[in-house]
Amino acid sequence: MKNILIIGGGYAGIAAAKKLAKHFKKDGEASITLIDKRPFHTLMTELHEVAGHRVEPDSVRIPYAKVFGVSKVQVEMDAIVSIDFAKKEAKSETTVYPYDYLVLGAGAEPEFFGIPGIKENCFTLWSFDDAMKLRFHVDDIFEKAVAEPNREKRRKMLTFVVAGAGFTGVEMAGELLEWRDAMSAKWLIDPKDVRIVIIEAMSSILPFFEEDLRDKIAAYLKKHDVELLTGTAITGAEPGVVQLKTGESIQTNTFIWTAGVSGNQFADSLGLSTGPFGKNPEAGKRNRRGRLLVTSEMRSVDYPDVFPVGDNLWFIEGEKPLPQIVETALQTGICAAENIIADIEKSEKYPHKKFKSDYHGFMVSVGGKYAVSNAMNIKMSGIFAQAMKHFVNLHYLIGVAGINQCWEYIKHEFLDRKDQRSFVRGFGAYKTRGYWLLPLRLWLGLMWVFEGVNKIGEGWLAWATGTKSGWMFSPWVTQAGAADVVSAASDAATTAASGAAEAVSAASGVAEAAVTAASGAGADVATSASQFGTIWDFTKPIFDSNGAIATWVRETFMDGVMAYIPFQGFQLFVVLFEMGIGLCLIGGLFTWWAAAFSIVMCLMFTFTGMFEWYKLWFIFAGFLFLGGGGRAFGLDCWVVPCFKKWWNGTKLARRLYLYFGNPSKK
Ligand SMILES: Cc1cc2nc3c(=O)[nH]c(=O)nc-3n(C[C@H](O)[C@H](O)[C@H](O)COP(=O)(O)OP(=O)(O)OC[C@H]3O[C@@H](n4cnc5c(N)ncnc54)[C@H](O)[C@@H]3O)c2cc1C
Repeated sequence: MKNILIIGGGYAGIAAAKKLAKHFKKDGEASITLIDKRPFHTLMTELHEVAGHRVEPDSVRIPYAKVFGVSKVQVEMDAIVSIDFAKKEAKSETTVYPYDYLVLGAGAEPEFFGIPGIKENCFTLWSFDDAMKLRFHVDDIFEKAVAEPNREKRRKMLTFVVAGAGFTGVEMAGELLEWRDAMSAKWLIDPKDVRIVIIEAMSSILPFFEEDLRDKIAAYLKKHDVELLTGTAITGAEPGVVQLKTGESIQTNTFIWTAGVSGNQFADSLGLSTGPFGKNPEAGKRNRRGRLLVTSEMRSVDYPDVFPVGDNLWFIEGEKPLPQIVETALQTGICAAENIIADIEKSEKYPHKKFKSDYHGFMVSVGGKYAVSNAMNIKMSGIFAQAMKHFVNLHYLIGVAGINQCWEYIKHEFLDRKDQRSFVRGFGAYKTRGYWLLPLRLWLGLMWVFEGVNKIGEGWLAWATGTKSGWMFSPWVTQAGAADVVSAASDAATTAASGAAEAVSAASGVAEAAVTAASGAGADVATSASQFGTIWDFTKPIFDSNGAIATWVRETFMDGVMAYIPFQGFQLFVVLFEMGIGLCLIGGLFTWWAAAFSIVMCLMFTFTGMFEWYKLWFIFAGFLFLGGGGRAFGLDCWVVPCFKKWWNGTKLARRLYLYFGNPSKK
């Protein structure tokens, strides 16, 4: 049994863990343990959205219990403080974790380049905690600024300085510019009193982007009154002051440092070889803080069973070091896992792999409504780029935690947005209180109960009178059991018919007289109706029962299966099911399921040509209760929490990532 230890559940750690868990799913050859300081995976690329109060904190943290579901990955919440490479042990304050293979994906930290006063006086944006700190601070500073009578102090409070115009800096400034408008409206501040400044030492912003895309971002920032100071180095900081090389200084209570990134202190403290600095060719010299030198198989140059991945590694490919971005993290994590598998399997089927990057492009958002991207050489800007960024995030999330997490993302990014800070604005944010839906829920329930009762009245449970559900099948199909009943009934019918014929002939004379009398009066009414005509006859079926659609549905789905189910059983089921849906809706019990079945039944009736236009509201009303609209004044208030708790513990829920909310600890 080989013991694989993964330190860090970031993009790289998760990619490695998932790959390993998939490979060793069935055999007991390897155990996989992932250790992280936090109980959740942080979506680092969206941190600015939390810091800038665009989305709620939950949207960037995915519990590991959700990520690893039923897989064999064991997750420990712990912080590793040292590693004994000779003994193959990683240690936290309290526990020793032995390993045979170690994946080191502890991520990056901000780099301050030794500039005096920066570290002590800035906010950073490199962890969930950083984002929350900034979020609370900005909220707080606006509130304080409103109450500040001193103009200078107020100006300082409303000045936000972002150092660095890379991904993080531009995205953070983008959030601030949108938040400024929302906060100004809230605190009755003139947005022009709020100053947002980006300071960049290089001559342009976003150096990895093409010039045309850079220009677009710069133009957007300027249009929204963000000051761009490019070619301006920061030389130091003191409390409330940022000093520039030009000799000027900026007074601010909010100085956000995004200008540098390296490996991290923990990785640096391990004593492994790191990358060279700048163009210094001396590989192995310890001067790239925390960026550990690896071979093309992603092994540390010092220990072949240690695999630094993601932001933690230093590897030159095509004369350039791998960038510290998500795609590097994912691809190096997978490469490391593949080489661990190759080491353990020792088979030609699983060869060792050399790293080869496959990057798809970049995208940068400036708030929730604007972005630029160059993905697979297709350049986009505005809402198209923004849509592309969301698509990429959803693609990542579906692999990490399934459809459930994608739905969470959609809710956070679009449906729950109240303040227009999304490219679909606030359209999805309007909510209806459940109690307004109560009358409709009761009425829909009552209708279903009546549908069921009506069917009993029509003889659906009087088996001796033959099938009442034959219309749901093609004319040539004989439902199981129906033929016997028909032959028994036909004798009785013949006898009855001869008596009835006499009665009919007597009655017809009377009827003829009545029709003649009525036709005079009826003609008048018909003449006035035809002048206007019927625009839409709601009593007609939505699809003609003999039309192409209904015939196809009957032949494809109904005839084959239902012909073998005794009609008595089928009819009993339909009657009980309809009444069941109705009673559940009335009682507010399993409302979601009752609404879902209500919709399915209606669609079934529609497509078999038996559902009239005037009943279409059944379907639309059903959709209302799928969103939880039925919970008010219903039994679900007690039943659903118990059901969710039970379901979240099932293997199926964990395998499919289909949780209600978050699962309990794995
Ligand atoms: C605001 C922001 C925006 C970004 N935007 C983009 C973008 O748009 N596109 C892009 O490609 N990249 C972007 N990046 C960079 C990208 O997020 C990183 O390259 C990526 O997160 C690296 O992944 P990783 O797995 O190496 O490390 P991380 O994702 O940082 O994960 C490291 C994990 O290790 C854990 N850990 C650290 N030390 C220990 C320890 N001692 N013991 C236990 N656990 C530990 C941490 O808790 C963390 O969970 C952005 C980064 C930031 C901060």
